[in-house]
Amino acid sequence: MRSTMMDHYPLTLVPILERAGKLFGKVEIVSNLPDKTLHRHTYADFYRRARALAEALHRAGLKKGDRVATLMWNHYAHLEAYFGIPVAGGVLHTLNLRLHPDDLTYIVTHADDRFLIVDDVLLPLYEKFKDRVKIERVFVVPLTGKPIPEGYENYEDFLKTAMGDFQYPALDEHDTLGMCYTSGTTGKPKGVAYSHRAVVLHSFAAGLAGAMGLTQHDVALPVVPMFHANAWGVPFVATMVGTKQVFPGPHLDPQSLLDLFEKEQVTFAAGVPTIWLGAQQLLEKNPGRWKLAPGLRLTVGGAPTPEALIRSMDRHGIEIIHAWGMTETTPLGSVSRLKSYMLDWPEDKKYAYRAKQGLPSPFVEARIMTDSGEEGAWDGQTMGELQVRGPWVAASYYNNPDATDRWTEDGWFKTGDVACIDPEGYIEIRDRTKDLIKSGGEWISSVDLENTLMAHPAVAEAAVVAIPHPKWQERPLAAVVLKEEYHGKVTPEELQEFLGRKFAKWWIPDAIVFVDEVPKTSVGKFQKTKLREQFKDWKWNE
Ligand code: ADP
Repeated sequence: MRSTMMDHYPLTLVPILERAGKLFGKVEIVSNLPDKTLHRHTYADFYRRARALAEALHRAGLKKGDRVATLMWNHYAHLEAYFGIPVAGGVLHTLNLRLHPDDLTYIVTHADDRFLIVDDVLLPLYEKFKDRVKIERVFVVPLTGKPIPEGYENYEDFLKTAMGDFQYPALDEHDTLGMCYTSGTTGKPKGVAYSHRAVVLHSFAAGLAGAMGLTQHDVALPVVPMFHANAWGVPFVATMVGTKQVFPGPHLDPQSLLDLFEKEQVTFAAGVPTIWLGAQQLLEKNPGRWKLAPGLRLTVGGAPTPEALIRSMDRHGIEIIHAWGMTETTPLGSVSRLKSYMLDWPEDKKYAYRAKQGLPSPFVEARIMTDSGEEGAWDGQTMGELQVRGPWVAASYYNNPDATDRWTEDGWFKTGDVACIDPEGYIEIRDRTKDLIKSGGEWISSVDLENTLMAHPAVAEAAVVAIPHPKWQERPLAAVVLKEEYHGKVTPEELQEFLGRKFAKWWIPDAIVFVDEVPKTSVGKFQKTKLREQFKDWKWNE
Protein backbone atom coordinates (compact mmCIF):
# COMPACT_ATOMS: atom_id res chain seq x y z
CA MET A 1 0.00 0.00 0.00
CA ARG A 2 1.36 3.43 -0.87
CA SER A 3 1.26 6.03 1.85
CA THR A 4 -0.92 9.10 1.53
CA MET A 5 1.91 11.34 2.71
CA MET A 6 3.84 14.01 0.80
CA ASP A 7 6.78 11.69 0.64
CA HIS A 8 8.39 13.68 -2.15
CA TYR A 9 8.75 16.81 -0.04
CA PRO A 10 12.54 17.17 -0.04
CA LEU A 11 14.52 17.42 3.17
CA THR A 12 16.64 20.50 2.45
CA LEU A 13 17.87 23.56 4.30
CA VAL A 14 15.30 25.82 2.59
CA PRO A 15 12.42 25.25 5.04
CA ILE A 16 14.84 25.70 7.96
CA LEU A 17 16.01 29.08 6.64
CA GLU A 18 12.49 30.20 5.73
CA ARG A 19 11.07 29.26 9.09
CA ALA A 20 13.92 30.97 10.94
CA GLY A 21 13.29 34.17 8.98
CA LYS A 22 9.52 34.09 9.49
CA LEU A 23 9.33 33.01 13.13
CA PHE A 24 12.48 34.11 14.89
CA GLY A 25 13.25 37.48 13.30
CA LYS A 26 13.80 39.19 16.65
CA VAL A 27 16.23 36.61 18.05
CA GLU A 28 19.84 37.79 18.24
CA ILE A 29 23.02 36.57 16.60
CA VAL A 30 26.15 37.86 18.34
CA SER A 31 29.73 37.60 17.09
CA ASN A 32 33.00 38.46 18.79
CA LEU A 33 35.01 40.44 16.22
CA PRO A 34 38.82 40.45 15.96
CA ASP A 35 39.04 43.67 18.05
CA LYS A 36 36.74 42.08 20.67
CA THR A 37 33.82 44.37 19.97
CA LEU A 38 30.56 42.48 19.65
CA HIS A 39 28.72 42.46 16.35
CA ARG A 40 24.99 42.08 16.96
CA HIS A 41 22.20 41.48 14.59
CA THR A 42 19.08 39.35 14.38
CA TYR A 43 17.69 36.35 12.55
CA ALA A 44 15.78 38.88 10.39
CA ASP A 45 19.15 40.29 9.25
CA PHE A 46 20.61 36.82 8.89
CA TYR A 47 17.66 35.70 6.75
CA ARG A 48 17.89 38.72 4.48
CA ARG A 49 21.67 38.46 4.12
CA ALA A 50 21.78 34.67 3.60
CA ARG A 51 19.26 35.04 0.78
CA ALA A 52 21.19 38.00 -0.59
CA LEU A 53 24.32 35.84 -0.65
CA ALA A 54 22.42 33.09 -2.48
CA GLU A 55 21.11 35.58 -5.04
CA ALA A 56 24.48 37.28 -5.48
CA LEU A 57 26.07 33.89 -6.11
CA HIS A 58 23.45 33.17 -8.78
CA ARG A 59 24.11 36.52 -10.41
CA ALA A 60 27.81 35.67 -10.33
CA GLY A 61 27.03 32.57 -12.36
CA LEU A 62 27.00 29.90 -9.65
CA LYS A 63 25.73 26.65 -11.06
CA LYS A 64 24.23 23.84 -9.06
CA GLY A 65 26.96 21.83 -7.39
CA ASP A 66 29.63 24.53 -7.70
CA ARG A 67 31.89 24.61 -4.70
CA VAL A 68 32.15 27.81 -2.65
CA ALA A 69 34.94 27.64 -0.10
CA THR A 70 35.03 29.50 3.21
CA LEU A 71 38.18 30.43 5.09
CA MET A 72 36.58 31.94 8.16
CA TRP A 73 36.36 32.01 11.92
CA ASN A 74 32.99 31.40 13.60
CA HIS A 75 30.80 34.48 13.13
CA TYR A 76 27.65 35.91 11.52
CA ALA A 77 29.03 35.87 7.97
CA HIS A 78 30.04 32.23 8.26
CA LEU A 79 26.50 31.43 9.37
CA GLU A 80 25.23 33.25 6.27
CA ALA A 81 27.54 31.09 4.17
CA TYR A 82 26.29 27.94 5.95
CA PHE A 83 22.82 28.66 4.58
CA GLY A 84 23.23 31.05 1.64
CA ILE A 85 25.56 28.77 -0.33
CA PRO A 86 23.51 25.53 -0.03
CA VAL A 87 20.10 27.14 -0.66
CA ALA A 88 21.57 28.60 -3.86
CA GLY A 89 22.38 25.05 -4.92
CA GLY A 90 26.09 25.55 -4.21
CA VAL A 91 28.32 23.40 -2.05
CA LEU A 92 29.65 24.95 1.16
CA HIS A 93 33.26 23.87 1.48
CA THR A 94 34.66 24.88 4.85
CA LEU A 95 38.46 25.15 4.85
CA ASN A 96 40.43 24.46 8.01
CA LEU A 97 42.37 27.66 8.62
CA ARG A 98 44.94 25.87 10.75
CA LEU A 99 46.18 23.67 7.94
CA HIS A 100 49.47 24.18 6.17
CA PRO A 101 49.18 26.13 2.88
CA ASP A 102 50.33 22.97 1.03
CA ASP A 103 47.38 21.00 2.43
CA LEU A 104 44.99 23.85 1.66
CA THR A 105 46.32 23.91 -1.90
CA TYR A 106 45.67 20.19 -2.22
CA ILE A 107 42.16 20.42 -0.73
CA VAL A 108 41.03 23.46 -2.74
CA THR A 109 42.33 21.87 -5.93
CA HIS A 110 40.86 18.46 -5.19
CA ALA A 111 37.45 19.95 -4.37
CA ASP A 112 37.69 22.23 -7.42
CA ASP A 113 36.50 25.26 -5.42
CA ARG A 114 35.21 28.03 -7.68
CA PHE A 115 34.58 30.92 -5.29
CA LEU A 116 36.02 31.77 -1.89
CA ILE A 117 34.70 33.81 1.02
CA VAL A 118 37.53 34.77 3.34
CA ASP A 119 37.86 36.86 6.51
CA ASP A 120 40.00 39.96 6.01
CA VAL A 121 42.15 38.81 8.94
CA LEU A 122 42.81 35.52 7.13
CA LEU A 123 43.89 37.02 3.80
CA PRO A 124 47.58 36.60 4.73
CA LEU A 125 46.94 32.85 4.91
CA TYR A 126 45.16 32.78 1.56
CA GLU A 127 47.99 34.76 -0.01
CA LYS A 128 50.36 31.95 0.92
CA PHE A 129 48.67 29.59 -1.52
CA LYS A 130 46.57 31.75 -3.84
CA ASP A 131 48.96 31.42 -6.77
CA ARG A 132 48.76 27.66 -6.58
CA VAL A 133 44.95 27.38 -6.78
CA LYS A 134 42.39 28.44 -9.34
CA ILE A 135 39.72 30.40 -7.51
CA GLU A 136 37.60 32.53 -9.81
CA ARG A 137 36.44 35.21 -7.37
CA VAL A 138 37.38 35.99 -3.80
CA PHE A 139 35.00 37.86 -1.47
CA VAL A 140 36.57 39.37 1.61
CA VAL A 141 34.55 39.86 4.80
CA PRO A 142 35.57 43.23 6.31
CA LEU A 143 35.59 42.14 9.95
CA THR A 144 38.10 44.82 10.96
CA GLY A 145 36.48 47.59 8.93
CA LYS A 146 39.82 48.26 7.22
CA PRO A 147 39.79 48.81 3.43
CA ILE A 148 39.88 45.62 1.36
CA PRO A 149 43.26 45.26 -0.41
CA GLU A 150 43.56 45.78 -4.17
CA GLY A 151 42.56 42.79 -6.26
CA TYR A 152 39.86 41.48 -3.92
CA GLU A 153 36.11 42.06 -3.76
CA ASN A 154 34.33 43.24 -0.65
CA TYR A 155 31.80 40.66 0.61
CA GLU A 156 29.43 43.46 1.68
CA ASP A 157 29.48 44.96 -1.85
CA PHE A 158 28.89 41.50 -3.25
CA LEU A 159 25.75 41.11 -1.09
CA LYS A 160 24.52 44.44 -2.49
CA THR A 161 24.47 43.00 -6.00
CA ALA A 162 21.34 41.10 -4.92
CA MET A 163 18.10 42.86 -5.94
CA GLY A 164 15.87 41.02 -3.50
CA ASP A 165 14.05 38.84 -5.99
CA PHE A 166 15.77 35.55 -5.19
CA GLN A 167 14.01 32.33 -6.15
CA TYR A 168 15.31 29.07 -4.69
CA PRO A 169 16.48 26.63 -7.35
CA ALA A 170 14.81 23.22 -7.28
CA LEU A 171 16.81 21.20 -4.78
CA ASP A 172 16.83 17.47 -4.33
CA GLU A 173 17.48 16.16 -0.83
CA HIS A 174 20.34 14.10 -2.23
CA ASP A 175 22.12 17.18 -3.58
CA THR A 176 25.35 17.98 -1.83
CA LEU A 177 24.99 20.75 0.72
CA GLY A 178 28.56 20.96 1.87
CA MET A 179 31.87 19.24 2.17
CA CYS A 180 34.59 18.83 4.70
CA TYR A 181 38.00 17.19 4.47
CA THR A 182 39.31 14.89 7.18
CA SER A 183 42.47 16.26 8.70
CA GLY A 184 44.44 13.43 7.15
CA THR A 185 46.73 12.39 9.96
CA THR A 186 47.56 9.50 7.67
CA GLY A 187 47.79 10.07 3.93
CA LYS A 188 46.15 12.85 1.99
CA PRO A 189 43.03 14.56 3.37
CA LYS A 190 39.83 12.94 2.16
CA GLY A 191 36.63 14.78 1.32
CA VAL A 192 33.21 13.96 2.72
CA ALA A 193 30.24 15.36 0.77
CA TYR A 194 27.13 15.89 2.93
CA SER A 195 23.68 15.77 1.35
CA HIS A 196 20.86 18.12 2.41
CA ARG A 197 19.04 15.02 3.58
CA ALA A 198 21.90 13.86 5.80
CA VAL A 199 22.24 17.29 7.44
CA VAL A 200 18.49 17.69 8.00
CA LEU A 201 18.13 14.25 9.58
CA HIS A 202 21.29 14.83 11.60
CA SER A 203 19.84 18.12 12.87
CA PHE A 204 16.74 16.37 14.16
CA ALA A 205 18.81 13.74 15.93
CA ALA A 206 21.42 16.14 17.32
CA GLY A 207 18.72 18.48 18.56
CA LEU A 208 16.85 15.81 20.51
CA ALA A 209 16.51 16.27 24.26
CA GLY A 210 18.58 13.07 24.65
CA ALA A 211 21.40 14.65 22.64
CA MET A 212 22.18 18.40 22.58
CA GLY A 213 18.62 19.19 23.62
CA LEU A 214 18.66 22.68 22.11
CA THR A 215 15.52 24.76 22.42
CA GLN A 216 14.55 28.27 21.41
CA HIS A 217 15.23 29.36 25.00
CA ASP A 218 18.89 28.41 24.81
CA VAL A 219 21.84 30.61 23.96
CA ALA A 220 24.20 28.47 21.90
CA LEU A 221 27.90 29.02 21.36
CA PRO A 222 29.86 26.67 19.11
CA VAL A 223 33.49 26.81 20.21
CA VAL A 224 34.15 23.99 17.77
CA PRO A 225 35.24 25.74 14.58
CA MET A 226 32.74 25.91 11.75
CA PHE A 227 35.40 24.23 9.59
CA HIS A 228 35.50 21.20 11.91
CA ALA A 229 32.76 18.76 10.87
CA ASN A 230 29.99 21.37 10.45
CA ALA A 231 30.66 22.76 13.92
CA TRP A 232 29.07 19.45 14.97
CA GLY A 233 25.77 20.62 13.51
CA VAL A 234 25.23 23.34 16.13
CA PRO A 235 24.53 26.18 13.63
CA PHE A 236 22.02 24.01 11.75
CA VAL A 237 20.21 22.80 14.87
CA ALA A 238 20.19 26.26 16.47
CA THR A 239 18.74 27.86 13.33
CA MET A 240 16.17 25.08 13.05
CA VAL A 241 14.84 25.82 16.53
CA GLY A 242 15.48 29.58 16.59
CA THR A 243 18.11 29.60 19.33
CA LYS A 244 20.12 32.76 19.99
CA GLN A 245 23.58 32.12 18.57
CA VAL A 246 26.83 33.50 19.91
CA PHE A 247 30.04 33.13 17.92
CA PRO A 248 33.51 33.46 19.45
CA GLY A 249 35.27 34.75 16.30
CA PRO A 250 39.04 34.23 16.63
CA HIS A 251 38.99 34.42 20.45
CA LEU A 252 39.17 30.82 21.60
CA ASP A 253 41.30 31.14 24.73
CA PRO A 254 39.48 30.06 27.89
CA GLN A 255 39.34 33.54 29.41
CA SER A 256 37.76 35.17 26.35
CA LEU A 257 35.29 32.30 26.15
CA LEU A 258 34.29 32.55 29.82
CA ASP A 259 33.90 36.33 29.46
CA LEU A 260 31.61 35.80 26.47
CA PHE A 261 29.68 33.04 28.26
CA GLU A 262 29.03 35.44 31.10
CA LYS A 263 28.20 38.46 28.97
CA GLU A 264 25.71 36.67 26.74
CA GLN A 265 24.52 34.20 29.40
CA VAL A 266 25.34 31.24 27.17
CA THR A 267 23.44 28.07 28.13
CA PHE A 268 24.93 25.65 25.61
CA ALA A 269 28.40 25.30 24.12
CA ALA A 270 30.31 22.64 22.22
CA GLY A 271 34.00 21.93 21.82
CA VAL A 272 36.93 19.53 22.23
CA PRO A 273 38.18 18.58 25.73
CA THR A 274 41.38 20.65 25.58
CA ILE A 275 39.31 23.86 25.56
CA TRP A 276 37.47 22.84 28.71
CA LEU A 277 40.59 21.57 30.47
CA GLY A 278 41.87 25.13 30.19
CA ALA A 279 38.56 26.70 31.25
CA GLN A 280 38.34 24.40 34.25
CA GLN A 281 41.74 25.55 35.52
CA LEU A 282 40.67 29.18 35.26
CA LEU A 283 37.43 28.49 37.09
CA GLU A 284 39.34 26.77 39.85
CA LYS A 285 41.83 29.59 40.24
CA ASN A 286 39.19 32.33 40.23
CA PRO A 287 36.19 31.08 42.16
CA GLY A 288 33.08 33.21 41.63
CA ARG A 289 34.71 35.45 39.01
CA TRP A 290 32.31 34.53 36.22
CA LYS A 291 28.56 34.60 36.78
CA LEU A 292 27.65 31.93 34.26
CA ALA A 293 24.10 31.03 33.26
CA PRO A 294 22.64 28.41 35.60
CA GLY A 295 22.39 25.02 33.95
CA LEU A 296 25.12 25.67 31.37
CA ARG A 297 25.65 22.52 29.25
CA LEU A 298 28.75 21.67 27.28
CA THR A 299 28.76 19.07 24.55
CA VAL A 300 32.29 17.75 24.65
CA GLY A 301 33.69 15.37 22.07
CA GLY A 302 36.15 14.95 19.25
CA ALA A 303 38.53 13.27 21.70
CA PRO A 304 38.06 11.30 24.94
CA THR A 305 36.62 13.44 27.70
CA PRO A 306 38.30 12.62 31.02
CA GLU A 307 35.93 11.63 33.80
CA ALA A 308 37.82 14.02 36.08
CA LEU A 309 36.80 16.90 33.82
CA ILE A 310 33.13 15.91 33.98
CA ARG A 311 33.35 15.76 37.77
CA SER A 312 35.10 19.08 38.18
CA MET A 313 32.75 20.91 35.80
CA ASP A 314 29.82 19.53 37.81
CA ARG A 315 31.32 21.26 40.85
CA HIS A 316 31.09 24.53 38.94
CA GLY A 317 27.47 23.85 38.02
CA ILE A 318 28.35 23.04 34.41
CA GLU A 319 27.03 19.84 32.86
CA ILE A 320 29.23 18.03 30.36
CA ILE A 321 27.47 15.91 27.78
CA HIS A 322 30.02 13.57 26.25
CA ALA A 323 29.53 12.77 22.56
CA TRP A 324 31.45 10.86 19.92
CA GLY A 325 31.55 11.49 16.21
CA MET A 326 33.64 11.89 13.11
CA THR A 327 33.83 14.06 10.00
CA GLU A 328 32.49 10.98 8.21
CA THR A 329 29.41 10.87 10.47
CA THR A 330 28.26 14.52 9.97
CA PRO A 331 29.50 14.19 12.87
CA LEU A 332 27.22 12.99 15.66
CA GLY A 333 27.39 9.23 16.27
CA SER A 334 26.72 8.70 19.96
CA VAL A 335 25.89 10.64 23.11
CA SER A 336 26.32 9.62 26.73
CA ARG A 337 23.25 10.41 28.74
CA LEU A 338 22.12 8.29 31.68
CA LYS A 339 19.01 6.17 31.30
CA SER A 340 16.19 6.86 33.76
CA TYR A 341 16.93 3.86 35.95
CA MET A 342 20.62 4.81 36.20
CA LEU A 343 19.86 8.03 38.06
CA ASP A 344 19.71 6.09 41.34
CA TRP A 345 23.04 4.41 40.75
CA PRO A 346 26.02 5.23 42.99
CA GLU A 347 27.81 8.45 41.99
CA ASP A 348 31.00 6.72 40.84
CA LYS A 349 29.14 4.42 38.51
CA LYS A 350 27.15 7.30 37.06
CA TYR A 351 30.35 9.23 36.34
CA ALA A 352 31.91 6.17 34.75
CA TYR A 353 28.91 5.98 32.42
CA ARG A 354 28.90 9.67 31.59
CA ALA A 355 32.57 9.36 30.62
CA LYS A 356 31.77 6.66 28.07
CA GLN A 357 31.01 7.70 24.49
CA GLY A 358 27.43 6.62 25.02
CA LEU A 359 24.46 5.32 23.14
CA PRO A 360 24.35 5.41 19.36
CA SER A 361 22.01 8.11 18.07
CA PRO A 362 18.67 7.03 16.66
CA PHE A 363 19.35 5.78 13.12
CA VAL A 364 23.04 5.18 13.80
CA GLU A 365 23.73 1.48 14.15
CA ALA A 366 26.93 0.45 15.85
CA ARG A 367 28.84 -2.82 16.14
CA ILE A 368 32.34 -3.90 17.05
CA MET A 369 34.38 -6.28 14.95
CA THR A 370 37.11 -8.28 16.63
CA ASP A 371 40.47 -9.11 15.08
CA SER A 372 39.15 -12.53 14.18
CA GLY A 373 36.52 -10.89 11.97
CA GLU A 374 33.57 -11.67 14.22
CA GLU A 375 31.09 -9.33 15.76
CA GLY A 376 32.10 -8.65 19.36
CA ALA A 377 29.73 -9.32 22.24
CA TRP A 378 28.21 -6.39 24.11
CA ASP A 379 29.84 -7.39 27.36
CA GLY A 380 31.81 -4.23 28.09
CA GLN A 381 35.08 -6.13 27.68
CA THR A 382 35.43 -7.48 24.18
CA MET A 383 37.38 -4.94 22.18
CA GLY A 384 37.09 -4.51 18.46
CA GLU A 385 36.90 -1.92 15.74
CA LEU A 386 33.83 0.25 16.00
CA GLN A 387 31.78 0.18 12.80
CA VAL A 388 28.70 2.28 12.11
CA ARG A 389 26.06 2.83 9.47
CA GLY A 390 23.16 5.21 9.08
CA PRO A 391 21.66 7.96 6.93
CA TRP A 392 24.31 10.54 7.89
CA VAL A 393 27.29 8.22 7.70
CA ALA A 394 29.52 8.59 4.63
CA ALA A 395 29.33 5.78 2.08
CA SER A 396 32.47 6.87 0.26
CA TYR A 397 34.99 9.70 -0.01
CA TYR A 398 34.59 12.40 -2.61
CA ASN A 399 36.35 11.60 -5.86
CA ASN A 400 38.61 9.03 -4.27
CA PRO A 401 37.82 5.63 -5.76
CA ASP A 402 40.95 4.08 -4.22
CA ALA A 403 39.95 4.79 -0.62
CA THR A 404 37.42 2.01 -0.24
CA ASP A 405 39.20 0.11 2.53
CA ARG A 406 37.23 2.08 5.14
CA TRP A 407 33.99 0.26 4.29
CA THR A 408 33.12 -3.37 4.89
CA GLU A 409 31.65 -5.56 2.20
CA ASP A 410 28.29 -5.45 3.94
CA GLY A 411 28.24 -1.66 3.91
CA TRP A 412 29.44 -0.51 7.34
CA PHE A 413 31.93 2.32 7.90
CA LYS A 414 35.11 1.33 9.70
CA THR A 415 35.81 4.11 12.16
CA GLY A 416 39.40 3.20 13.03
CA ASP A 417 38.43 3.42 16.70
CA VAL A 418 38.83 0.50 19.06
CA ALA A 419 35.87 0.17 21.36
CA CYS A 420 33.79 -2.09 23.51
CA ILE A 421 30.05 -1.94 24.00
CA ASP A 422 28.52 -2.84 27.36
CA PRO A 423 25.29 -4.72 28.00
CA GLU A 424 23.41 -1.40 28.34
CA GLY A 425 24.54 -0.52 24.81
CA TYR A 426 27.01 2.20 25.82
CA ILE A 427 30.01 2.51 23.53
CA GLU A 428 33.38 3.00 25.16
CA ILE A 429 36.26 4.06 22.92
CA ARG A 430 39.47 2.51 24.22
CA ASP A 431 41.75 4.03 21.63
CA ARG A 432 42.30 4.83 18.02
CA THR A 433 43.66 1.76 16.26
CA LYS A 434 46.87 3.59 15.53
CA ASP A 435 47.31 4.80 19.13
CA LEU A 436 46.91 1.47 20.93
CA ILE A 437 50.10 0.33 22.61
CA LYS A 438 51.20 -3.22 21.96
CA SER A 439 53.35 -4.45 24.83
CA GLY A 440 54.56 -8.06 24.94
CA GLY A 441 51.68 -9.17 22.74
CA GLU A 442 49.00 -7.45 24.87
CA TRP A 443 47.16 -4.19 24.22
CA ILE A 444 47.33 -1.18 26.49
CA SER A 445 44.79 1.60 26.08
CA SER A 446 46.45 5.01 26.02
CA VAL A 447 43.07 6.65 26.67
CA ASP A 448 42.53 4.81 29.96
CA LEU A 449 45.97 5.87 31.20
CA GLU A 450 45.49 9.48 30.12
CA ASN A 451 42.10 9.77 31.76
CA THR A 452 43.45 8.48 35.04
CA LEU A 453 46.51 10.73 34.92
CA MET A 454 44.25 13.72 34.31
CA ALA A 455 42.35 12.82 37.47
CA HIS A 456 45.49 13.57 39.52
CA PRO A 457 45.18 17.03 41.07
CA ALA A 458 48.58 18.14 39.75
CA VAL A 459 47.99 17.18 36.13
CA ALA A 460 46.63 19.64 33.57
CA GLU A 461 47.10 17.48 30.46
CA ALA A 462 48.45 14.02 29.76
CA ALA A 463 49.03 12.11 26.55
CA VAL A 464 50.35 8.58 26.41
CA VAL A 465 52.09 7.17 23.34
CA ALA A 466 53.76 3.94 22.29
CA ILE A 467 57.54 3.99 22.03
CA PRO A 468 59.41 1.07 20.45
CA HIS A 469 61.03 -1.21 23.02
CA PRO A 470 63.74 -3.83 22.36
CA LYS A 471 62.11 -6.45 24.55
CA TRP A 472 58.41 -5.62 24.75
CA GLN A 473 57.91 -4.32 21.21
CA GLU A 474 56.32 -1.13 22.55
CA ARG A 475 56.03 0.48 25.95
CA PRO A 476 53.94 3.46 27.04
CA LEU A 477 55.49 6.88 27.63
CA ALA A 478 53.38 9.59 29.22
CA ALA A 479 53.91 13.25 28.38
CA VAL A 480 52.44 15.25 31.26
CA VAL A 481 51.76 18.95 31.65
CA LEU A 482 51.66 19.92 35.33
CA LYS A 483 49.43 22.68 36.62
CA GLU A 484 51.57 25.73 37.30
CA GLU A 485 51.26 25.57 41.07
CA TYR A 486 52.58 21.97 41.09
CA HIS A 487 55.77 22.61 39.12
CA GLY A 488 58.66 20.92 40.92
CA LYS A 489 56.31 19.46 43.52
CA VAL A 490 55.43 16.14 41.91
CA THR A 491 57.71 13.36 40.71
CA PRO A 492 57.18 10.82 37.93
CA GLU A 493 57.34 8.09 40.58
CA GLU A 494 54.37 9.62 42.40
CA LEU A 495 52.33 9.58 39.24
CA GLN A 496 53.36 5.99 38.52
CA GLU A 497 52.30 5.07 42.01
CA PHE A 498 48.97 6.88 41.45
CA LEU A 499 48.38 4.85 38.28
CA GLY A 500 49.38 1.69 40.11
CA ARG A 501 46.27 2.00 42.29
CA LYS A 502 44.14 1.34 39.24
CA PHE A 503 46.19 -0.52 36.64
CA ALA A 504 48.19 -3.73 36.48
CA LYS A 505 51.93 -3.17 36.74
CA TRP A 506 52.63 -3.86 33.09
CA TRP A 507 50.25 -1.06 32.06
CA ILE A 508 52.13 1.67 33.95
CA PRO A 509 54.17 3.94 31.64
CA ASP A 510 57.86 3.27 32.23
CA ALA A 511 58.56 6.89 31.48
CA ILE A 512 56.63 9.93 32.63
CA VAL A 513 58.08 13.05 31.09
CA PHE A 514 57.05 16.55 32.15
CA VAL A 515 56.51 18.81 29.15
CA ASP A 516 55.39 22.43 28.78
CA GLU A 517 52.68 21.55 26.34
CA VAL A 518 51.12 18.55 24.59
CA PRO A 519 51.20 19.28 20.84
CA LYS A 520 47.69 19.77 19.41
CA THR A 521 46.18 19.05 16.01
CA SER A 522 44.55 21.66 13.81
CA VAL A 523 41.29 21.10 15.67
CA GLY A 524 42.78 21.08 19.16
CA LYS A 525 43.20 17.38 19.89
CA PHE A 526 46.34 15.81 21.35
CA GLN A 527 48.63 15.20 18.42
CA LYS A 528 50.08 11.78 19.15
CA THR A 529 51.92 11.51 15.85
CA LYS A 530 53.97 14.54 16.80
CA LEU A 531 54.62 13.22 20.30
CA ARG A 532 55.81 9.89 18.93
CA GLU A 533 58.10 11.78 16.58
CA GLN A 534 59.38 13.90 19.47
CA PHE A 535 60.27 10.84 21.55
CA LYS A 536 61.28 8.47 18.77
CA ASP A 537 64.89 8.27 19.95
CA TRP A 538 63.89 7.66 23.55
CA LYS A 539 66.31 5.30 25.31
CA TRP A 540 64.76 2.91 27.81
CA ASN A 541 66.77 1.98 30.88
CA GLU A 542 67.72 -1.65 30.62
P1 ADP B 1 40.49 13.86 13.12
O1 ADP B 1 41.01 12.61 12.52
O2 ADP B 1 41.08 15.11 12.60
O3 ADP B 1 40.46 13.85 14.61
P2 ADP B 1 37.63 13.86 13.22
O4 ADP B 1 37.38 15.15 13.86
O5 ADP B 1 36.71 13.37 12.20
O6 ADP B 1 39.03 13.92 12.56
O7 ADP B 1 37.84 12.83 14.38
C1 ADP B 1 37.17 11.64 14.54
C2 ADP B 1 37.87 10.84 15.60
O8 ADP B 1 37.94 11.57 16.82
C3 ADP B 1 37.17 9.58 15.97
O9 ADP B 1 37.48 8.55 15.06
C4 ADP B 1 37.71 9.31 17.36
O10 ADP B 1 38.98 8.67 17.32
C5 ADP B 1 37.91 10.67 17.92
N1 ADP B 1 36.79 11.01 18.79
C6 ADP B 1 35.74 11.79 18.51
N2 ADP B 1 34.93 11.92 19.58
C7 ADP B 1 35.50 11.20 20.57
C8 ADP B 1 35.15 10.91 21.93
N3 ADP B 1 34.09 11.44 22.50
N4 ADP B 1 35.96 10.09 22.61
C9 ADP B 1 37.05 9.55 22.06
N5 ADP B 1 37.44 9.79 20.81
C10 ADP B 1 36.68 10.60 20.06
